[in-house]
Amino acid sequence: MNVLVINCGSSSLKYQLLDMTNEEVLAKGLVERIGIEGSILVHEAPGQEKVKLEQPMKTHKEALNLVMAALVDPNHGVVKTLGEISAVGHRAVHGAETFSDSVVIDDAVIKSLEECSELAPLHNPANLIGINACRELLPNAPMVAVFDTAFHQTLPGEAFMYPLPYELYEKFKIRKYGFHGTSHKFVSLAAAKLMGKKIEDLKLISCHLGNGASLCAIKNGKSVDTSMGLTPLAGLEMGTRCGDIDPAIIPFLVNKGYSVEEVDNIMNKKSGVLGVSGISSDFRDVESAADKGDKRAQLALDIFHYRVRTTIGAYVAAMDGVDGIIFTAGLGENSTTSRAAICSGLKYFGIVLNPVENSKRGQATIISEKESKVTVMVIPTNEELMIARDTLALVK
Ligand code: ADP
Repeated sequence: MNVLVINCGSSSLKYQLLDMTNEEVLAKGLVERIGIEGSILVHEAPGQEKVKLEQPMKTHKEALNLVMAALVDPNHGVVKTLGEISAVGHRAVHGAETFSDSVVIDDAVIKSLEECSELAPLHNPANLIGINACRELLPNAPMVAVFDTAFHQTLPGEAFMYPLPYELYEKFKIRKYGFHGTSHKFVSLAAAKLMGKKIEDLKLISCHLGNGASLCAIKNGKSVDTSMGLTPLAGLEMGTRCGDIDPAIIPFLVNKGYSVEEVDNIMNKKSGVLGVSGISSDFRDVESAADKGDKRAQLALDIFHYRVRTTIGAYVAAMDGVDGIIFTAGLGENSTTSRAAICSGLKYFGIVLNPVENSKRGQATIISEKESKVTVMVIPTNEELMIARDTLALVK
């Protein structure tokens, strides 16, 4: 059974076609610059050369049309007809309190998704465009929405409520939702397997460290706290986002003459590792500048490691213990120095890294010493596979 996974952004679209009999990726690709000049589709199938197609794609529907054409192309296609696509799984960003699990898409779900758009104005409308375009192009394939927020719907009140007047929660649904849920769920299940234990018996902390970064405390397989909030701006320092700051900084800057939009733009796009280092939002650039002695680059990294480490400490308190810590996503899977820096301050918890194992990159492995009280792991995330698994489970 072939499942197509679609991840629609505002001007981009990622896709993967998976054969779920053996979870094999048949083809994957990326469309960028939809609706702007220079639209490009890059399509890849294992064992074949990459195909690049540059032509105007004004809408997501046009882009999806080209994706479908690439999938059935006689030369570089991987299926004979679109009828061989049995189901479609869509990444959906914000499911608010409406969706605590993945769901088969029907008209009522689309209406609810539209209602959730207010909470994710940049993401949900793009997801909806992708869903509607796919419904037109593949009218017979059942579709499933898999939400970034759903995994965190198990957070207890003390973790998800902000201590604001209660009426703001009732009126506007202002609360912590959390994101990266699909990734946190995938790596926690894989970690339990690697540890040879049942997920129901474990206390895990998952560290998804990429351009966007969040931590998640997972007790007995359920998310009990996470570092992102109402929006993905909260929590850790990120590539360009500030994470948690004193909220009074916002009115302070507004009183200094900045508009609210300017402050919002500063916090989302000009802060974090980029803002502190003044060099780049890409951790590789900042790590190499720090290696050459750049003090602000080093400070940007120190802030990042400190926040991850202290949040791990908070989550040990949230769960009254921890059995395993997982590193995942671009930086978590690849930066041996960051993993070492983060864990260096966690000796009190009995965490000891094995330097040889920690020097490995991008493969599922235990990087702590045998005598370490807590198992530290690297688990490559695979959100597409998690979406395809959920899709298969729901349409079967
Ligand atoms: P996102 O999906 O949020 O855009 P990724 O999970 O792809 O992000 O992670 C991207 C980040 O991972 C970048 O900042 C990149 O510099 C960092 N990264 C990737 N490989 C390495 C590496 N070998 N060492 C350090 N950082 C890395």
